[in-house]
Amino acid sequence: MRRPLIAGNWKMNLNRVESVSLARDLSAADLTSDVDVLVCPPYVYLDAVSSAISGTGISLGAQDVYFESAGAFTGEISPAMLTDIGCTFVILGHSERRHVMGETDGLIKRKVHAALAAGLTPVLCVGELLEERESGKTREIVESQFNGSLAGLTEEQVQKTVIAYEPVWAIGTGKTASPQQAQEVHADLRKMLADRYNSATSESVRILYGGSVKPDNAADLMSQTDIDGALVGGASLNAEGFAAIINAASVSAA
Ligand code: PEP
Repeated sequence: MRRPLIAGNWKMNLNRVESVSLARDLSAADLTSDVDVLVCPPYVYLDAVSSAISGTGISLGAQDVYFESAGAFTGEISPAMLTDIGCTFVILGHSERRHVMGETDGLIKRKVHAALAAGLTPVLCVGELLEERESGKTREIVESQFNGSLAGLTEEQVQKTVIAYEPVWAIGTGKTASPQQAQEVHADLRKMLADRYNSATSESVRILYGGSVKPDNAADLMSQTDIDGALVGGASLNAEGFAAIINAASVSAA
């Protein structure tokens, strides 16, 4: 049985006071105990948020990491730096990193390996553009990102990885994939895992959906067989709304 995970990607939002306040509000919220909760603030507020969520069971993650461990890499942050300040997760290959920063599967793969080597859980994002969906290429694109970004992982490593299916056309747009559209791709991803590894491994990996998840659509999405939680952008910036999404995951898990 896969335990649901609800992850909040704060992106490049909030200041220090707002970040701490959001973390405190979430810590004080009435959250179900049968869902794992993760918050991913900007790098510069990780430390402050780490203190604010200390002892609550809420996990801390970063939004990216570099693959080298130390050295002359101006502006970059290493996996060990993230574990040093209490991170246990890191989002990798987010569509904004792929399409705004130009990250390739080759680079993302190196980051996934480095994160796992440092003991971080990667939340590896895959997803198609609108034109790719409209031209019937969703499976091909998702499979190529899956193969490229997760190349060379052992069975044990992939079991420690979370995959997030995030159709790019649904991110920050208010357009959500229907539960059926999302389930179809999640089932494809699970089949890719089974084909490359085996069915036990495939059944153990958590696959999150991301793309305009809100309190009012979360339960429907998470009631789908292969959807194990959500990666939430905009709606994670409000403690009440994010708490409602977390609790919706519990209702559908029951
Ligand atoms: C995201 O940032 O990964 C995301 C899914 O954003 P939103 O929920 O705002 O669409």
